[in-house]
Amino acid sequence: MLKTVTNLYRSRLCKSHENILKMSTKVASSNNSAIDKKFALPSRYGESKESVWTEYIQLAIDYKPLNLGQGFPDYPPPQYIMDALAKVSNQSDYMFHQYTRGFGHPRLVAAITKLYSKLLGRGINERTELITTIGAYEALHASIMGHTEAGDEVIIIEPFYDCYEPLVRYAGGIPRFIPLRLKEPSDGRLSTSADWALDKDELESLFNEKTKSIIINNPNNPLGKVFTEDELNHIADLCKKWNVLCISDEVYEWIVYKPNKHIRIATLPDMWERTITIGSAGKTFSVTGWKLGWAICPANLMKNLQTIHQTSIYTGVTPIQEACAVGFELEMERLGTDECFFVSLPKELEAKRDFMAKFLLDVGMKPIIPEGGYFMLADWTPLEGKIDLNSENDPEKDYRATKWMTKNIGLQGIPPSAFYGPDNKKLGENYIRYCFIKKDENLQKAAEILKKWRDS
Ligand code: PMP
Ligand code: GLN
Repeated sequence: MLKTVTNLYRSRLCKSHENILKMSTKVASSNNSAIDKKFALPSRYGESKESVWTEYIQLAIDYKPLNLGQGFPDYPPPQYIMDALAKVSNQSDYMFHQYTRGFGHPRLVAAITKLYSKLLGRGINERTELITTIGAYEALHASIMGHTEAGDEVIIIEPFYDCYEPLVRYAGGIPRFIPLRLKEPSDGRLSTSADWALDKDELESLFNEKTKSIIINNPNNPLGKVFTEDELNHIADLCKKWNVLCISDEVYEWIVYKPNKHIRIATLPDMWERTITIGSAGKTFSVTGWKLGWAICPANLMKNLQTIHQTSIYTGVTPIQEACAVGFELEMERLGTDECFFVSLPKELEAKRDFMAKFLLDVGMKPIIPEGGYFMLADWTPLEGKIDLNSENDPEKDYRATKWMTKNIGLQGIPPSAFYGPDNKKLGENYIRYCFIKKDENLQKAAEILKKWRDS
């Protein structure tokens, strides 16, 4: 009897507990929807969407493929740069561990302005014409935010480094895309990034009174195109004609394969006045995790970048800047010689580039030989029959192919449609981007994975 009563009591208790739970869930869900609604991502940021990096880095963590996706070396940077950082970290002088000057650590600012005064052929003012940033990302962010009014048009050349488009949109600007178009070589040779060019008339047709800026990436990621003097002059002439700013992302400035030459657009006649040149220590010294970048431009433009920087970041990382200053000072002493890292790095990478092109060709893909940078696009569609494209749901074919390859053959590349605007994604879909700043043994492994897959 007692047992029955207890059970009854228990079941009533459970019921009322359940009801309370139901009620509180109801309140919570109505609260949640109110919370969700009120605290949604502000509409100026568009829809909340993962970038290709967020998605593919997680994919690499989950599936542990051989990672030729995200661009970074899988071997150590130069010894002197590691030693410089180790030395700074052991300094007992408090100054090396506390806030440094907001617009750039003095020793680094001195080194960068000295180097770029030479490269740009003019004296760069340390105080007013240079800012150091948290990676080239922050320099891009400050340049775009600091120069885009709502409704301004910004010309972006496709394929483009993927953050340009959202940054322009966040700033209220309107991206106007123009693709580099492939002109297949007629003599049957392998195509190179030089075979991808802008149509001059098409570019001209994009410029108008609303055009505020053009973003160029030279050498280009993901294609590896190094713009010629003629191409840069055409862009420069249009910038001058329409009074347009040029944001020039030159993070791969030292990674250019002979006989190509890196020309800084800021050095072309009357372009200094309207160019922001952006660089990255991540690429310059092979230390992508150090996240140090810079922007160089005339003082009137720099004021705008400083305004954004001083409230969002305020100051960069002191020991990283000190160590990079040491790196620049050393390299400046041997600039242009074979010992200079800026000379030896592209030499070392050229052999890796050629090795990759050969193994991609051997398995039936069609690589595009880059003139600069450390990425290679390859047409994967000759192998399409070996990929189950229906196993993934993404709208773009290259996303499905690269995900399938990561999960099924253990090799990761990046889908190039991520580097196109909404209307031109098709132009990237037949390609995959592989990074070749990797140990020879890992490039060899990649070759073996692909061969085994081709023969399976
Ligand atoms: N621009 C391009 C073209 C890049 O490839 C990258 C990636 N490294 C960046 C900018 C950002 O550079 P950082 O890592 O210095 O922020
Ligand atoms: N720039 C590098 C690349 O293109 C890294 C990108 C990133 O981590 N956002 O792969």
